[in-house]
Amino acid sequence: MGKRMPQIIDGKAISAQIKDELKEKAAAMKEEGIEVTLAVIQVGNDPASSVYVGNKKRACEYIGIRSLAYELAEETTEEELLTLIARLNDRKDVNGILVQLPLPAHICEDKVIGAIHPAKDVDGFHPRNVGALCIGQPGFVSCTPAGIIQLLKRSGIEIAGKECVVIGRSNIVGKPMALLLLRENGTVTVAHSRTEDLMAVTKRADILVAAVGRPRMITKEYIKEGAVVIDVGIHRSEGGKLCGDVDYEEVAPLCSAITPVPGGVGPMTIAMLMHNCVESVKLQE
Ligand code: NDP
Repeated sequence: MGKRMPQIIDGKAISAQIKDELKEKAAAMKEEGIEVTLAVIQVGNDPASSVYVGNKKRACEYIGIRSLAYELAEETTEEELLTLIARLNDRKDVNGILVQLPLPAHICEDKVIGAIHPAKDVDGFHPRNVGALCIGQPGFVSCTPAGIIQLLKRSGIEIAGKECVVIGRSNIVGKPMALLLLRENGTVTVAHSRTEDLMAVTKRADILVAAVGRPRMITKEYIKEGAVVIDVGIHRSEGGKLCGDVDYEEVAPLCSAITPVPGGVGPMTIAMLMHNCVESVKLQE
């Protein structure tokens, strides 16, 4: 059999398209006197977190969302952080609240996530939003998996009825991913580190989502010919080059469609965060 050319799913283009749609929406809301506001809280100055926070602020500017930056010292106590969140919960002019993770070790992340008002939880991490997703009620959905659904839909890939395998069961990627694929009527299997014979499971997948956190672990032996492969992983090699959880060079020729790293899933996360911010106004009504 000759090698086929897979469809390369362009996350950069799709995220740009979503951001432009949101920009129009935000402008229309402004005409009605509604200005969307996102509060971004960072505790300490972890360099990776600072990059993410900077990117989020820039995306807000582009779309026309007002962003309020709270840069707190590493020594900030849990109580001080919870007090700030309570104040932002009460403010009518604040629509979204985002606490950049990870937090310093002396602050309990679960407690902080649980303190954000569910109607302002634009990351979709609050147990109430996770529960809402689980039982099909409206609420915020975790941005990375929500972005993957957009990638599939806007690339014309059918989910309904397909064998979907998600590798990874984290609260922010794997689990919400599985729930979203189920909501789209996929037949969903969730694999993880205790899965026996992972290859046998992944080889059944029409749509394979790799959120394993292991560089280039998914080689051609894991893939069914013609599968759609979504690579969530981001790893920086010693040379500074980015790679994913999938061995792209080896796997791509087998696929009908695949996301590259960078330029696949990565850009979608912020686009969906912006989507959640714009939608938050509706949820709060
Ligand atoms: P976690 O480390 O929280 O979860 C990894 C999951 O993979 C776990 O469920 C784990 O199983 C499973 N796993 C680990 N090793 C194996 C293995 N050998 N075989 C099968 N399953 C395995 O990671 P995240 O979900 O937070 O992130 C996953 C990847 O996605 C990372 O590379 C991260 O950098 C990237 N990421 C990218 C984002 C983006 O915007 N593109 C956003 C968020 C994450 P178990 O539960 O049993 O331990």
